[in-house]
Amino acid sequence: MRRWLLWSLRPVAIGYVLLVQALAVLLVALVVALTPVPSAREWAVFALLALTAGSVILLTSLSITVRRQVRRDPWTLHIAYLATGILTLPPNLLVLLLLGPALHGVLDVRPELHRWLFTTGAITLATFSARFAIGWTEPRWGAVTFVLAGAVLLVVRSGLVALGIRLRNPRAARVDVLGEPIDVLLGIVAASLGGLLAVAVTAEPACALLAGPPLALLDLAGQLPQWRRSAQRDGKTGLANAAHWDRLARAELARARPRTQPVGLLLLDLDHFKRVNDRIGHMAGDAVLVAVAEVLRANVRRADVVGRFGGEEFVVLLPGADAGIARAVADRMRVATAALSVSTHDTRGRACELDGLTASIGVATTARFGYELADLLSAADAALLAAKAGGRNLVALA
Ligand code: GH3
Ligand code: MG
Ligand code: MG
Repeated sequence: MRRWLLWSLRPVAIGYVLLVQALAVLLVALVVALTPVPSAREWAVFALLALTAGSVILLTSLSITVRRQVRRDPWTLHIAYLATGILTLPPNLLVLLLLGPALHGVLDVRPELHRWLFTTGAITLATFSARFAIGWTEPRWGAVTFVLAGAVLLVVRSGLVALGIRLRNPRAARVDVLGEPIDVLLGIVAASLGGLLAVAVTAEPACALLAGPPLALLDLAGQLPQWRRSAQRDGKTGLANAAHWDRLARAELARARPRTQPVGLLLLDLDHFKRVNDRIGHMAGDAVLVAVAEVLRANVRRADVVGRFGGEEFVVLLPGADAGIARAVADRMRVATAALSVSTHDTRGRACELDGLTASIGVATTARFGYELADLLSAADAALLAAKAGGRNLVALA
């Protein structure tokens, strides 16, 4: 118990996690003690809903284990059948339905125990808040109630989780705290499915079985952001990978061509990068790549497209930039790279500061080489070679 990662958190985060846990346990105890015994029909709805959700949880976990994948976020699936339960079951059967997320925690590769307990506690509080909002003993019924139940469930759960992440790490990125926009959409889809399912099981409890395939699809859809990210982004730097950059650059050039809008292209290659790897280590080399990617990001506008071309080569497409502007941007990047000081570790684990890094940049423009990406890249590559031949730490215009 003393080795639990929970104790390594900041005191305020530990207090918050324990508070959420305590409230959830207290609420569950009160509900179990105070709610009357459910009717046979309520038991039937519960049993069919639990059977369907349980089978989906079991099968998706099995498929993830067999295919050696890691599940990103199982909550979309739980939100759907919990929303149905909030609208149709008495609170004590809702407690049993909350064993669904717990089942996932047992079957999947869990993060840390306290995190799993915390998220289960948060969804318990969110579930009972939603039930409270629509009427504790006799929930109201109708479209407005469905929306209210779904909204309270989603907002309370993400609010509790977001606060937990912020307290744990005050500097956490927004996307880590609030999730990606598609997570919000998936949450709304799940809550809506839960509402529709509530209508169906009220008419005929066996309709719960129809929820199996959409629940499985929801779980799969929860993995979309992860798939999209790995298909489009370079894992080391977070920049567009070569294939994605290629697609984005072609789209920008096709947009600019009919209007003969100028476009600039920069090809940047770090100077003597092999020396960093050879002398200090590949981890240090990677830290430099991350720092250079940050320099490039910081020196472009929103519409510009930055990518990792491969190895220690980066590409930047600058829509609307003529030769003068493209050269100025390239020079800004060259100067910022030369001013970099990267904190890293050598192969023996000793901390070190890396500076004296430089980059050479080749610049090509549509005014001279037209709107074919291949032509622009060849021209920028030739200019880059000229910059290397000219002594490095240079910008050369093709
Ligand atoms: P030049 O100034 O002529 O460009 O010299 P250079 O040493 O930078 O050029 P070269 O293309 O010969 O070397 C590139 C090196 O980049 C080779 C490889 O070890 C290293 N490299 C490529 N990808 C990665 C990576 O992802 N991480 C690390 N650490 N090194 C990488
Ligand atoms: Mg290279
Ligand atoms: Mg190089």
